[in-house]
Amino acid sequence: MKTICLGKTGISVPQNAFGALPIQRVSEEEAVSLLRKAYEGGMRFFDTARAYSDSEVKVGKAFEGMRDKVYISSKTMATTREKFEEDLETTLTNLKTDYIDIYQLHCAARCYTEEDDLYQCLVEAKKQGRIRHIGITAHKIGVAEDIVKSGLYETLQFPFSYLASERDIALVQSCKEADMGFIAMKGLSGGLLTNSEACMAFMSQYDVLPIWGIQRQSELDEWLGFFENEVTITKKIKNVIEKDRNELLGEFCRGCGYCMPCTVDITINQCARMSQMIRRAPSQNWLTEHWQNEMMKIDSCVNCYMCKTRCPYELDIPNLLRKNLKDYKEILAGKKV
Ligand code: SF4
Ligand code: SF4
Repeated sequence: MKTICLGKTGISVPQNAFGALPIQRVSEEEAVSLLRKAYEGGMRFFDTARAYSDSEVKVGKAFEGMRDKVYISSKTMATTREKFEEDLETTLTNLKTDYIDIYQLHCAARCYTEEDDLYQCLVEAKKQGRIRHIGITAHKIGVAEDIVKSGLYETLQFPFSYLASERDIALVQSCKEADMGFIAMKGLSGGLLTNSEACMAFMSQYDVLPIWGIQRQSELDEWLGFFENEVTITKKIKNVIEKDRNELLGEFCRGCGYCMPCTVDITINQCARMSQMIRRAPSQNWLTEHWQNEMMKIDSCVNCYMCKTRCPYELDIPNLLRKNLKDYKEILAGKKV
């Protein structure tokens, strides 16, 4: 397994890390067990966030008494000094620690600089030793490029999978040149990619640290398996990637849910990518009465465009939903998928 050094932080870990967003959906006992098994299996880097409900508490419980054996990153969505302080203290308490390895501004809408309170808060927290390194997460490529150019951050967390564009790949390269760590989120592109071997092999070509979102033992086993059986890009894997890229590229929903809630309660993060999901997972799961009812809600969209203002990928969500609904109705009427 390749080792990744996260730029000037000096943090060096195996290129196989744990994204702790999904553990908010399982019991504390299950989450702690998953996290410990991940450690025992070789993972050393764990990414959580204040916004992931009780994820931090679970991470804190799992690594109590062995804090120096793992690296933990967390995030704040604070927009004021007061909220930053409150979040940081809560995170330290939740994680049962007195320092966070990398503290990140979460889903930054722009590059915060020395003039911004939030950036000053990060610098002060680092001086106090409450955080060891300053990081940021972004979803928009332009914002991410500004962040790298600013030279103010030690790590960038950005979506990166084998659906990446040339511009995304150039971003990875510019991070490397700036001696910034690149933490790759959404390596499965929000569940659209299902071939973990191809995802891992793709990452192995770059100096990035993928944080795989893990919720089940079977998922963890898959990722831990790569410590034993290292994967690289082969002709077979290149073909898988090429096929998926041909099918999935373009305007597609990553399922992140940032656009929600919808004014009329449409489950946008699933319905706006139904055409892909139905072709990639067993179709029957998406044709149940529940999903038919969810999809039919699209007809009640009032075109308020509230969702679009919140989508980091600036997708035209109402139109995307309508396209998905048209396809879905055709499938229900007998179209082959
Ligand atoms: S535009 Fe439609 S989908 Fe978007 S928030 Fe409004 S009602 Fe919901
Ligand atoms: S429409 Fe945009 S914000 Fe909403 S789930 Fe999809 S990618 Fe995320």
